[in-house]
Amino acid sequence: MSMKAFVTGGAGFIGSHLVDRLMQKGSVTIFDNLSSGRVEFVEHHLDKNNFELVQADLLDLSKVKKAMKGHDTIFHLAANPDARLGIRNTDLDLKQETLVTYNILESMRINKIKKIVFSSSGTIYGETPVIPLSEDYGPVLPISLYGAGKLASEGLISAFCHTFNMQAWIFRFANIVGERGTHGVIFDFISKLKKNPHELEILGDGTQEKPYLHVKDCVKGIIFGLQKSNERVNVFTLGCDSSTDVTTIANVVVEEMGLKNVRFKYTGGDRGWPGDVPQVRFNCEKINKLGWKASYTSNEAVRLAVKALVKELEV
Ligand code: NAD
Repeated sequence: MSMKAFVTGGAGFIGSHLVDRLMQKGSVTIFDNLSSGRVEFVEHHLDKNNFELVQADLLDLSKVKKAMKGHDTIFHLAANPDARLGIRNTDLDLKQETLVTYNILESMRINKIKKIVFSSSGTIYGETPVIPLSEDYGPVLPISLYGAGKLASEGLISAFCHTFNMQAWIFRFANIVGERGTHGVIFDFISKLKKNPHELEILGDGTQEKPYLHVKDCVKGIIFGLQKSNERVNVFTLGCDSSTDVTTIANVVVEEMGLKNVRFKYTGGDRGWPGDVPQVRFNCEKINKLGWKASYTSNEAVRLAVKALVKELEV
C-alpha cells in the first residue's frame, strides 16, 4: 500500500532529503513555514501530482488539523535548528518543539492518524561520561533548552501513543551533514572563511568531538527503522560509532576550499557555548543489529559534506 506522508519541516535540510525518498513510496504533503527551509530544496517536486507544499506555521493548530486530514504517517522534522538560539530566546524551543509537537499529536488524535516518526537528538542525553550512548542510557537530563524541547516532545509522543493507541518511531540523531546544509559547524566555517580567508574563529578549544552522519545515511536509517520495528514506541540512536573533532573539521574545510596559511583563533574553553555537549559518542547497536549501518565513517561524512557545501556555496 502506498504511503500518504505528511512531513513537517519537509523543505528543510534533512526534511527535503527525506521527501525525495518518500516521493518514491506514495504521496507527500510538506507543512513548512519556510523559516529555515527553502522552496528550492523541493522545487523539483512542485509539478508532480503526488506532492503538495503547504506554507503555514505549526503553531496554528487549526491549519495543522485541516492540512493533516487524510494522511497516514506523520514525519515530524520541523524545529528551531540552532541549539544556540535558546540562550537568547528562552521560549523558542518551548514553542518550536514542545507546543508544536503537541499541536501535531492533537491533530493526529482528531484526524485518527496513528503513526508518527520524530527527529529527536543526542542532546537529550545531556552531559554524560564520555561513553557511547545507546537508547537505554539514563537518566536523560539535557543541558540545553533545545535538548529539553526534544525530550519534552519525546515524552508527549510516548504519552499520546499509550493514551490514544498511536505508534511512534523516535530517532535520536547524531550531527547530520551533507548537501543542502544551511547551518552547523561546516556551514559556519565555510561562511566565515568566505568573509576572511586568512583567519578562522573556532568556538571552544577545538577538541569538541562528536559523531557526524551523512544526510543520505540518516534518511535511509529513518525509513529502515520505520519498516523494521513495530513496538508501540520505537526509539533508535541514529549515527555512527566513530567521531570527528572540531579542529579536524576546520582543517578539512581549509583544504577543500584550497586555502593556505589560515590562522585558527580559538575562543577557548572546552565547549562552543553554554549548553553545548563537548564530547559525544554514539552506540547504534540496536539499529545495526536490525541490519542498518552508516555507510560512511564520521570523518568520511564530514569530508563529503564539506566538498558538497563548498560547491553549493560557490566558494
Ligand atoms: P532545518 O532548519 O533545515 O529544518 C527545519 C524545518 O522546519 C525548516 O524547513 C523550517 O522552515 C521548518 N519549520 C521550523 N519551524 C516551523 C514552524 N513553526 N512551522 C512550520 N515549519 C517550521 O533543520 P534540519 O537540520 O533539517 O533539522 C530537521 C530536524 O532534525 C529538526 O527537528 C532538528 O532538530 C533535528 N535534528 C537535526 C540535527 C542536525 O544535525 N541537522 C541533529 C539532531 C536533530
